Amino acid sequence: MTPEEFRAAGHELVDWIADYRARVPDLPVQAQVKPGEVAALIPDAAPEQPEDFGRVLADLDRVVVPGLTLVQHPRYFGWFPSNASLGSVLGDVATAGLGALGLTWQSAPALTEVEEVMVAWLRDLCGLPQSWRGVIADTASTSCLVALLAARERATGYSEARGGLQAEPQPLTVYTTDQAHSSVPKAASLAGFGRDNLRLVEVDPTTYAMRPEALRYAVERDVAEGRRPAAVVVNVGTTGTTAVDPLADVVAIAREHDLWVHVDAAMAGSALLLPEMRWLVEGVEGADSLVWNPHKWLGAVLDCSLLYVADPDHLVRVMTTDPSYLRSSVDGEVTQFKDWGIPLGRRFRALKLWFMLRLEGVEAIRARLRRDLENARWLADEVAHTPGWRVLTPVTLQTVVLRHEPDGLVDADGRVLDAEALDAHTLAWVDALNSSGELLVTPAQLGGTWSVRVSVGAETTERADVERAWQLLRAAAED
Ligand SMILES: *Cc1c(COP(=O)(O)O)cnc(C)c1O
Repeated sequence: MTPEEFRAAGHELVDWIADYRARVPDLPVQAQVKPGEVAALIPDAAPEQPEDFGRVLADLDRVVVPGLTLVQHPRYFGWFPSNASLGSVLGDVATAGLGALGLTWQSAPALTEVEEVMVAWLRDLCGLPQSWRGVIADTASTSCLVALLAARERATGYSEARGGLQAEPQPLTVYTTDQAHSSVPKAASLAGFGRDNLRLVEVDPTTYAMRPEALRYAVERDVAEGRRPAAVVVNVGTTGTTAVDPLADVVAIAREHDLWVHVDAAMAGSALLLPEMRWLVEGVEGADSLVWNPHKWLGAVLDCSLLYVADPDHLVRVMTTDPSYLRSSVDGEVTQFKDWGIPLGRRFRALKLWFMLRLEGVEAIRARLRRDLENARWLADEVAHTPGWRVLTPVTLQTVVLRHEPDGLVDADGRVLDAEALDAHTLAWVDALNSSGELLVTPAQLGGTWSVRVSVGAETTERADVERAWQLLRAAAED
């Protein structure tokens, strides 16, 4: 394709994207396809001869759009906000168009330096310590793995340069709660700690937040029994209920035992742009690393995860590689992001942040986040005041965890009398509602019974959409 051919096709594609975004509200939220249906629409083999761009574009409508669950929809209340603001989309298009190769500083100095500035902008917008440095990773899952690898190497005095974990005299232990995202136990396993050495510390039964005294007990028992506590993953805004572990208390315990403190604020991190929400990470200056995902609520198109560390020199020592073909005369003066994580080659991910922040402006982003928090509080209030409905967990962010309780299944104090019937009821009405395509919510198990998560925060979700959602929830559950 020549640049001139690209120009013509590109204009068509941009028009298509703009039209698509405008009609998203009229499409079903949940994909209506059956397994295998999308693949069956695509030929079995690649074309030998070039096709028209028009035919390729038409397949976005024919093949792709029906096979998407529309997280940009104003009545998307599923898993968590996964915004892709059009400003950030433009940045990502520019990234692809530039086709830069991020290997070392030398291979694309702008890629490295724009990233450094964006990471610093967002650090300062979130009120994180000025001395911290950061990097853009693909996802929070990767960031958590990198953090636990750094923790492992600090606890063992760089065992990787000797016999690795296999030569360590004591097993190393890691702490979190059963509310942690599935990526946390996965990272602990992949980093070589082993599931047997992952402690799920008890949580408070109403807030689902880690109980610090239970952490202390678990750590002290491990020490007494000859194990070496290495790291604790603090959950700030859990996936299930947006529970917030008490970071300052955890940091105090971690200091006594030289535990690495990693903060997983993947979803909640966006809220740190609001000064009134900084309490979420009170005590963060005593932590070692923190991850949050601008690709969730903030609005940068996937993938864009920010990993911050208090001691970048340590991270670089753990991750560094130095093959001769990547050496240059500026080594030592510049940041080499290849030494901040697992991949060598990197995309120019910072452009989507730069575009988004400049085209939207921080003030408007803050207003949008506050709108979502208020909409969640409004919904929680409606639910709490409606007979037969219950809000199950504190609403600290933009997620409301609720349940409809038909007569006789739950007593006045909220004790479940017939769990089987209640679960069957919940799953039936949620499935009917999600299948209708009118809105999307996520059923999730909480304390052994099914609940429903309503996660507010799509860029296009206004109060009227939340009001409509509440009507639809009531109609689906009460009939
Ligand atoms: C979404 C989420 C993750 C995983 O994020 P990825 O970027 O998809 O890996 C981890 N932890 C929490 C709390 C999350 O909300």
